[in-house]
Amino acid sequence: MSNGEGTGKKGADAGRSAGKGAAKDAGRATAPRRGAAGAKGGPGARAEELRALIRDASHRYYVMDDPTVDDAVYDGWVRELESIEAEYPDLVTSDSPTQRVGAQPSERFASHRHVQAMLSLANARGDEELHDWNRRLEAVLEQEGMGGQPVHYVVEPKIDGLAVSLTYEEGHLVVGATRGDGEVGEDVTSNIRTIKAVPLVMRPEVGTPPARVEVRGEVYLPLEAFAQFNEARAAEGQPTFANPRNAAAGSLRQLDPRLTAERPLSAWFYAVGASDGLAATSQHAVLEWLRAAGFPVNPLIAVYEHIDDVAAACEGWEKRRGEIDYDIDGAVVKVDSLEMQRRLGAVARAPRWAIAYKFAPTTATTLLRDIRVNVGRTGAIVPWAELAPVHVGGVTVERATLHNQDDLARKDLRIGDTVIVQRAGDVIPQVVSALTQRRSGDERPFEMPVDCPACGTALVRPDGEVIWRCPNRSCPAQLVESVIHFASRGCMDIEGLGEKTVQKLFDVGLIANVADLYDITADQLIPLEGFKDQSAANLIGGIEASKQRPWPRIINALGIRHVGEVTADAIALVAPGLDALLDASADDLARADGVGPVVAEAVTEFLSADDNRAMLDRLRVAGLTMEMDVPDGPIVGPLTGCTVVVTGALQGFTRDEAKRAIIAAGGKSTDSVSRKTTFVVVGADPGSKAEKAEKAGVPVVDEMTFAAVLAGGQPVPARTVV
Ligand code: NAD
Repeated sequence: MSNGEGTGKKGADAGRSAGKGAAKDAGRATAPRRGAAGAKGGPGARAEELRALIRDASHRYYVMDDPTVDDAVYDGWVRELESIEAEYPDLVTSDSPTQRVGAQPSERFASHRHVQAMLSLANARGDEELHDWNRRLEAVLEQEGMGGQPVHYVVEPKIDGLAVSLTYEEGHLVVGATRGDGEVGEDVTSNIRTIKAVPLVMRPEVGTPPARVEVRGEVYLPLEAFAQFNEARAAEGQPTFANPRNAAAGSLRQLDPRLTAERPLSAWFYAVGASDGLAATSQHAVLEWLRAAGFPVNPLIAVYEHIDDVAAACEGWEKRRGEIDYDIDGAVVKVDSLEMQRRLGAVARAPRWAIAYKFAPTTATTLLRDIRVNVGRTGAIVPWAELAPVHVGGVTVERATLHNQDDLARKDLRIGDTVIVQRAGDVIPQVVSALTQRRSGDERPFEMPVDCPACGTALVRPDGEVIWRCPNRSCPAQLVESVIHFASRGCMDIEGLGEKTVQKLFDVGLIANVADLYDITADQLIPLEGFKDQSAANLIGGIEASKQRPWPRIINALGIRHVGEVTADAIALVAPGLDALLDASADDLARADGVGPVVAEAVTEFLSADDNRAMLDRLRVAGLTMEMDVPDGPIVGPLTGCTVVVTGALQGFTRDEAKRAIIAAGGKSTDSVSRKTTFVVVGADPGSKAEKAEKAGVPVVDEMTFAAVLAGGQPVPARTVV
């Protein structure tokens, strides 16, 4: 928690409020853009120019795995060319990039001709274009005499990796190839064999395997592995990769398979090409067959019966894409019926029966203008990046967190570098790595200040810690941050008291710590810039209302190191009031669930400081709720006596909310599966705990069952005997 304090949130907010011209600017910087209509030389010349740009970028991207422009810029060129060609069909040339897939395979590898061509996908951006696609396909089905028959859709995550086609004969892998130009790919069989997720032999569950079949999927590099991999390359002075997709492609297209084997590549499979002896009538049946044959098939894939539900699923994934450990750049929507697919056919280089619903890109490259530091509420000095504004993950980002100095040094980031920035969903923008090959030699390494930038106190770094801290507890920057935290949503939830207002109250000298908030009057606020009678009354009302927040919230609001919402709840149970808390020894506190010696010491240290004790007294005098009733004996509820583990992302609960709900229902919430675990709740992308539970015979339930058990509408799942 302390690592990310301060900087990131501001970075994300700054992104939300800033203008939206950055992506276009990136395009201009790389290639001067002239509108098609007004282009010097007319649309023909512009089309030529675009083809040259696209061809060059494709070569860098597909063949060299080292793109020179952002995907958004590249996609803009392709769209512009497509619209010129749609308006002036005479300008379409057979070698136009709009007519072909990928790029020619590299001559470094033997070539492999695919029996069934590997196509690209047409794109839809947003709801409207998805519905347009659906209308187009319904019209074709109508012409084909299939009008009125219900269309079902399979929605699959669009993995941002590298497409491969694996040929199996009698269930044995014989060839692994890249997509190449769609007709001919590169033979990378020895490299494919090193990927653990690829079955070398199909599983017997599949029955008699087809005599020959092409299995298609995507090889990718998990995000964490990508970050580590780039860091290691930077540390060795080697050029870094711009994104996980290029890193995966570069890793798979190694001449020495031993190098590929060292990279933690993985794969998802989603289609079958030519097949000899495989009977399936739908895409979802193909996926089931692949799963039975031992291929990893993405668990997020789902079937929908209505295009509106498809649109909702695509939007949902865009929001949640930050929760999974691999990059998805969209969702692929496919017509489920293979007969309908056959009737719909393909245009140019993409099938009509599928569409890629594209998300806003989550990575972009930009200039690292400066590195600065923020002082957090516990004194942590957190470096952050000031970036040239760039459009990424749906917003314009100008700031990104850099975590700590060690992290910075590991990534070898220098002021003036071109860096890769990543942002997905509500995730704080991060600088992934620097594109070291673009250095000019003028870049400057960052030097950590020796004194606190807010109060001038010499910074300290306790042994074994990675974070530098300002030890001055009266440091104005820390005090401002601690009031911001105190007023925030999970704490005292003071309406109208955001970051800017807190800073203003400090600047005019109305507050110096949290206790001062309760002495402010409306008359003091009204003369301040930005306040009127009503807004002053609202803030005073918000401060007054905060006096009703329960005791555990106050413990959380104090901003003690290592104490968050759940720990504060647990501490409140062993110290159910201010006096009990002030009297508690480290041993007493360690009786609280989840509190170990480090947390207990942080709490006692905080409480032993005279200024903190004085502040707590003032809060009591101001009338805050400094007591709570503790239930006699254990809570009786549907989960009394049960120990529950939650793993993966739930839709209706944050992790803390799920823990609270378990405790409120009388149960105990733990993080690891053991013999004592009663059941495990599994959300999206669960990791190994679900597997461990299944092996140990511990029941595994989904979120709906969990909610029903909490509500007492369903019994606690029983263990199976193994
Ligand atoms: P695409 O985006 O048109 O989509 C087709 C590909 O999606 C398939 O080949 C397959 O690899 C992949 N895919 C992932 N999950 C899938 C699933 N469940 N079902 C089917 N296919 C799935 O791919 P493309 O034609 O390779 O490339 C176009 C993209 O590459 C563009 O969006 C562009 O941004 C990027 N690109 C960038 C540059 C650059 O210089 N930055 C250059 C060339 C291409």
